[in-house]
Amino acid sequence: MHQATLLQAKDGLKQKKFSSQELTEAVFKRIDAVEDKVQAFVHLTRESAMQEAKEADKKIAAGEDAPLLGIPLALKDLICTEGARTTCASKILDQFVSPYDATVVKQLKAAGAVIVGKTNMDEFAMGSSNENSWHHPTLNPWALNRVPGGSSGGSAAAVAAEECIASLGSDTGGSIRQPASFCGITGMKPTYGRVSRFGLVAFASSLDQIGPMTKTVEDAALLMNVIGGKDPLDSTSADVALPDFMLALKNQVKGLKMGIAKEYFTSGIAPEVAKSVEAAIKTLESLGMEKVEVSLPHTEYAVATYYILACAEASTNLSRYDGVRYGYRSESSDNLKDMYLNTRSEGFGEEVKRRIILGTFVLSSGYYDAYYLKGQKVRTLIKQDFEAAYKQCDLIVAPTSPLPAFQLGEKMDDPLQMYLADIYTISANLAGIPAMSIPCGFTGDNLPIGLQLMGRHFDEETLLTVGHHFQQATDFHKNFASL
Ligand code: GLN
Repeated sequence: MHQATLLQAKDGLKQKKFSSQELTEAVFKRIDAVEDKVQAFVHLTRESAMQEAKEADKKIAAGEDAPLLGIPLALKDLICTEGARTTCASKILDQFVSPYDATVVKQLKAAGAVIVGKTNMDEFAMGSSNENSWHHPTLNPWALNRVPGGSSGGSAAAVAAEECIASLGSDTGGSIRQPASFCGITGMKPTYGRVSRFGLVAFASSLDQIGPMTKTVEDAALLMNVIGGKDPLDSTSADVALPDFMLALKNQVKGLKMGIAKEYFTSGIAPEVAKSVEAAIKTLESLGMEKVEVSLPHTEYAVATYYILACAEASTNLSRYDGVRYGYRSESSDNLKDMYLNTRSEGFGEEVKRRIILGTFVLSSGYYDAYYLKGQKVRTLIKQDFEAAYKQCDLIVAPTSPLPAFQLGEKMDDPLQMYLADIYTISANLAGIPAMSIPCGFTGDNLPIGLQLMGRHFDEETLLTVGHHFQQATDFHKNFASL
């Protein structure tokens, strides 16, 4: 049962092949069997999940229907859940219990979902490997000596290890797509403003988006139907009509133009990744899509721009963790200033501190114009690159990451190398456009490779259409690691 996709699980429940309680128990049994190896979760919500499953079964018996009724899902541990801890994988929030549910959690619950637990991540979503978690690293189900990617590595590994039917992650600079590609699953970052950020602990507010991490594109479409839409509690959520994303799966791909940008096939790309992505492009051509060359000339500035803007926003967002209002407070201080200093020095990990310092620097007087303001201007240029490209094509096809999953510890001593590997995912966040990663191959070592599809603002539909047709024509997404 735990091997089911979301749609299969829905069908099984509907056909009464199994109950939600049986399905949820099967998922926990799977967790008990593999979690020692994978360590995808920060904490499990076993009791409330079984209760939710019981209620779902009652509703099913009463003939009620809801999009996620009785389906066990997992949430990245920066999405606020009432009554369960939300730690952001940080010591500073280790005991924090949110007094409310995030809007997406309310939506999932209203749709009947069963929440099995909160997944591991890089602290405050800062990282690409899950090694920045204060709790423990998560391991890649495909190779336990490798990282699952980050920062939503726990959510990706939980789906890939079949420890939940699907999960939610968040993506500020690639944190849904890169772990999805490393773990061989589907992950979508919606358009900025498509999904409410209310109750998503903020990293960089102008870039953060919540999105689905699933076994198939169909499952992602179903979750998008549930979590999308305008939310009065998030002023940056957009008042744009929410289509039925499941209908988009039925659209044709014939005649769609896919843009190929040479800036996404640079020398840093692993040959096996390039080969799989090129083969995927051929597959899409064989489905009737047309290839067009486009240019995204400011791509080379994306990493620098992102790390300036994301750190600047993080430095202000994280100023709220002061030991006074919530979370950890250092005991070893005898005046207020030392209390702030010690709380933040002891409560934050190295990477978070590095970014707060970088962000404070680029915002400080004398450097503001040279870094922050310039970063904002380059961000506009990057957005304009995409607008120009979309005059020639309907979507852009690229690798998700230049490399497959790397080894634990491999990049920990060199933050710059870690940052540079985000090159293909960061621009979509800067431009605010939707982007999705789907499995498109394996390396010789049996590590998954991801194909990235990037679309126009609020055109998740085209990505889902193309992704779904690709999955109809290929089997990469049907492979799961043997654990
Ligand atoms: N890897 C990027 C970073 O470290 C992206 C993180 C994210 O999307 N949350 O900032």
